[in-house]
Amino acid sequence: MHNKFAKRACSIKSSDMRIILTAGERPELISFAGGLPAPELFPIEALKTASEAVLTEEGAASLQYSATEGYLPLRQAIAGRMEAIGIPATLDQLMITSGSQQAIDLTGRLLLDEGDTIICESPTYLAAINAFKTYDANFVEVEMDEDGMIMEILEKRLMENPHAKFIYTIPDFQNPSGRTLSLERRKRMIKLAKQYDMIILEDNPYGAIRFSGTPIPPIKQFDTDGRVIYLSTFSKIFAPGLRLGWICADTVFIEKYIGLKESADMHSDGFAQRLTAKYMEQNDIDAHIETIKEVYKERCAVMIDCIEQFFPKSVSFVKPEGGLFLWVELPESMDARKISLKLLESNVAVIPGAAFFAGNAQTNTLRLNFSNTPEERIKEGMKRMGEVLQRELNE
Ligand code: PMP
Repeated sequence: MHNKFAKRACSIKSSDMRIILTAGERPELISFAGGLPAPELFPIEALKTASEAVLTEEGAASLQYSATEGYLPLRQAIAGRMEAIGIPATLDQLMITSGSQQAIDLTGRLLLDEGDTIICESPTYLAAINAFKTYDANFVEVEMDEDGMIMEILEKRLMENPHAKFIYTIPDFQNPSGRTLSLERRKRMIKLAKQYDMIILEDNPYGAIRFSGTPIPPIKQFDTDGRVIYLSTFSKIFAPGLRLGWICADTVFIEKYIGLKESADMHSDGFAQRLTAKYMEQNDIDAHIETIKEVYKERCAVMIDCIEQFFPKSVSFVKPEGGLFLWVELPESMDARKISLKLLESNVAVIPGAAFFAGNAQTNTLRLNFSNTPEERIKEGMKRMGEVLQRELNE
C-alpha cells in the first residue's frame, strides 16, 4: 500500500526520538526526553467545579457545533492577556486553535507553496520542521548564540533569500535550546523584516513561564505594520490535553486562517473552550502560573547543580531563565545519539539535539526537560547520566 501514499506522507519517518519517547512509558525510566508540563500541577479540583458549572449553565451550547474563530468569552480573556504583555488586539485579530501546533500547520497551509523557503533558528522546534516539511518547504538556518538568533547572520540569509516566505522564531526560552532573543535583537529583527518585506512567525508558548531575569516584550509589540503573526497556547500555563492555543495577527491573516481552520476541524473543542473560560472566571490563572514558575525554577536549579556536580567539566550548557528545557553541549568528539542510546541502558531518556536541526545538525548536543520530573528523580537521573558521560569520555 506504500505506493498509494502521497509524497508528503513518504517524508514521515519513525525516528530515534519516537523510540526514546515511547521508552518513557516504562516506570523505571527517568525521562528528560519529552516536553511535558508537571501533571501534579494541573488544577483538577478547580476544573471539576468549572466543568460542573459549564454543563449546568450552558451544557447544550458547550456540546453543540460552534464558531470557527472560537468562543467569544475565551477570546475576550485572551485579548486581556495579550494587552497585559503589550499587544493590544481586537477580537477579530484573534483566533482559537487546537493547540499552537495547529496554528503552525495552518500557517504552512496559508503561506507555503512547494519549494518555498523558511528562515529559522538553528536549532528549532522539531514539530514545526515536520509540519512545514509536509508543505515541501526548504529551510535556511540562522545560527544562535546565548542571545538567540544572530542578526548579522539573519541579514546575510535575508540577502541571499529575498523571496523567503517568513522568519520562524521562538524568542522566549526556545524549544529546544532554552535561549531567549535579546531586546535589541527583537527590534533589529523587526527592522530587517520590514527592509526585506518578510513576515515573522513568532511562536511563543513559553513567554509566560519566566522564572528569573527581566521580562522582554514580545516581538509583536514592535510590529507597526501587521507583519508579525503571534502564536501562543494554554498548553504550558494550564493543560496541554485540552488542546487550546491562539493566533494573534492582522485581520487579513485571521480571515484566511478561519477559512483554513474550518476545513481542518471546524472549530476547537467547544467544551474545552468554555471550561477554560469558566476556569479563568472562577480562578486566578496568574496565581496558578506563579506556582508553575516556582516549581520549574527549582527543578531547573536542581538540574544545573547536578550538571556542575556530576558531569565532566568539558560539558557546557545554556542556563535558561524560563521555559521547560536545558540545552547541553558535549565535547565535539562525542556523538549525543550514541550517548542517548547508552543512557537508555541506564534507564535515563534524553533527546539527542541533532533531531532539532532543519539542516546542519550539531551532533554533540542534547535537550533535557526539567518540568516533568520531581527533584529527587532529577538528581538520580542526572547522576546516572554523569556516570555514563564520564565513562564515555575516558574510553
Ligand atoms: N511551539 C513550540 C515551540 C512548542 O514547544 C510546542 C509544544 N511543545 C508547540 C508549539 C505546540 O504546543 P501546543 O500545540 O500544545 O500548543
